This record gives sequence, structure tokens and C-alpha cells, in this order.
Amino acid sequence: GKVLVTGANGYIAVWIVKSLLEAGFAVRGTVRSESKAAYLRSYFKSSGDRFEVVVVSDMTKDDAFTEHVKDVDAIAHTASPFHMKAVEPDEIVGPAVAGTLSVLKAAEAHGTRVKRVVVLSSTAALFRISPDPLVLDESAWNEQAIAEIKEKGRDATAIGKYRASKTLAERAAWEWWEQRKAALGFDLAVLNPPYVFGPNIHDVDEPENLGESMRDWYNNVVKGGLSDDALAKNGAMFVDVRDIAQAHTLAIQTPAASGQRFIISSGPYKWQDFVAAAHRWSERFPEGNTSYDPSKAIHALQYDNRKGITTLGMKYRGIDEVARDSLEDFKARGWL
Ligand code: NDP
Repeated sequence: GKVLVTGANGYIAVWIVKSLLEAGFAVRGTVRSESKAAYLRSYFKSSGDRFEVVVVSDMTKDDAFTEHVKDVDAIAHTASPFHMKAVEPDEIVGPAVAGTLSVLKAAEAHGTRVKRVVVLSSTAALFRISPDPLVLDESAWNEQAIAEIKEKGRDATAIGKYRASKTLAERAAWEWWEQRKAALGFDLAVLNPPYVFGPNIHDVDEPENLGESMRDWYNNVVKGGLSDDALAKNGAMFVDVRDIAQAHTLAIQTPAASGQRFIISSGPYKWQDFVAAAHRWSERFPEGNTSYDPSKAIHALQYDNRKGITTLGMKYRGIDEVARDSLEDFKARGWL
């Protein structure tokens, strides 16, 4: 089979392409400009004509995907704005929603062979701030972020605008699909990862240009500078980039993924967990907060990852493997 991957040059997407090629799929990746295509063609050269790149300069245009969906069996949609720079919420919500609907409409109108569309959403779409410890599952929706941009507009927080873009894009996909599913030849599955960490295989020239999530990781673990208190208290949930990539392949291959969203999460971390792992990897890294006891750490917000394990067969890399392979990647780039 052949899979269309949108935003194929992204941090997560290059790993998705790799996973799909290794599983035997042919892949057509979309990028926004020719300058981003060359790296991918070279990186996946050994796959020969099983891999190609096409330029879609504006995914929100009516015919953006028309020619690119005609001969594919599945679509993995990952292209979505991921930055904290929007002034008006619609600068980020607009393209996120319109891009998702553009892919679905193209699949409906021209994707006669398409059987499944997998949308890369985020736990940002189900997250909520709570005074009490909370374990969220796939039934949760981030109503807070939607309310925040509605009430505050341009004065909403940057992270709130991003979270709203992921929530509204995913909700638009489900609403669109639910209304038409009886008449469609394809179904929908959605993946919701938390912070994605792990080695980079996309085109990145210096640490400042890492993706949003790995730039945080580099700053907090390699550069350092967090106080002992912050190391022990600050953290969230994470997943290895290779695991969220594999989840895309499994979501395409697994019939039971039809109409489901999946939290794709390894587990909780505090920054001290990664700092300690870096120290185990090499003593050139400081020990960090030596009074921290991981068994006593309080993780106020956690995600229930059981559905992905039982339905998709997910297995998760842990903190030491993420740290080791990220540091080996940085070392090979001369960044340590
Ligand atoms: P990257 O920034 O590396 O990749 C983003 C991709 O989306 C790039 O291909 C980018 O193209 C494309 N893109 C951005 N804006 C637009 C737009 N307006 N029109 C078309 N394409 C666009 O990020 P990641 O790989 O980290 O993230 C990929 C997806 O995963 C995003 O949807 C993000 O929300 C989601 N995600 C990421 C997490 C993380 O921790 N990294 C966690 C949870 C979800 P270009 O290079 O041309 O800008």
C-alpha cells in the first residue's frame, strides 16, 4: 500500500515516514517548499521509488491535495502550526482546522482508494488544568483552551492558543467524519501524544532550531540551569518520537483503530529524571538534585495509555533510552 504523509519534513513526521517504509509501505510526503524536499530525498534514497516528495505550498487551498490522494491507501496528517508566536488565535487555529478539513475533503472527493486517515493530534486536545491530581483518558476534551481564546482573544496565553488549535482541529475532524461516515470509503483514527522527545532525523542545523519539544529537552538537560527545586517539581508526560511514529503505522494497519482516538504516552517525568539519566550516560553531566526520589514524585496530571497498548499493541521506550539516544544524536552532531 501507499501512504500520504503531510508535513513530511517535521521532527515527528520523518520518523513516521521511516516507520512506514520499514513496514513495507510506499510513502508520498508533502512539504511546503522545494528547499525542504531535497533533504528528504537524500535521507530516504535507499528506498528508491517507494518514497517521493511533493510540494504543497498552501494546504488550505481547495485543490491542495487533489492530485496527491488519488493513488494512496491511507493518509497520515501531521502538518499543523506548532509555535508560540500567534497574536490573534486564528493565526494558529485557522490553518490547523483548515488543513485538517482540506485533507479529509480531498480524501472524500478524490481518494477512491483511501481506507484510513490518521490525524496527529496531541494531548493538548484533552488536557486540562485541575486543582486536584487527575488521570485523563480518551474521553477528555480541552474545553478550557477553547474557552480561553473565546474569552481573551489575542490576550490568551501562547500555549492556550496552541492547545486550542489542536483541540479545534481534532474536533473538526471528528465532526466532519461523523456526519459523513456512512457514505465514506475511509475511516478516521486520531493519535494524542504528550511531549515528544528522542533523537532527530529531520533537517536541523543547530540546537536553537530544534522542534518545540526537543529544544526544551536540550535546554533543560544539556544546557542545564534549572534550580534543584524546579528539577524535582517540573515535568509532564512524554513519549519517544520513535514510538509515536510506530503508532501511526499501527493505526493504519489495525482495523480496530477505526473511529478511535488514542493517547500515545510512555509515562510521567520530572526534569530530574532525564538529568539523572544523562548523568548515568556520562559523568560529564552533573548529578542534578541528589535529594530527589522518583518514587515520591507527585505527577498531578497523568494520561491513561491502556487503550493504545491493548488495541494497537503499543510498547513504550523509557526515560533512559530516550536520554541515551537523544544524547548520542547530539554528540554525533557535535552539540555536546
Ligand atoms: P515540527 O515543527 O517539526 O513539524 C511541523 C510540521 O507541520 C512541519 O512539516 C511544518 O512545515 C508543518 N506546518 C506547520 N505549519 C504549517 C502550515 N500552516 N501549513 C502547512 N504545514 C505546516 O513539529 P513536530 O514534528 O514536533 O510536530 C508535528 C505535529 O505533532 C504537530 O501537529 C504538533 O502539534 C504535534 N505534536 C507534537 C508534539 C511534540 O512534543 N513535538 C506533542 C504533541 C503533538 P514547515 O517545516 O514548512 O514549517
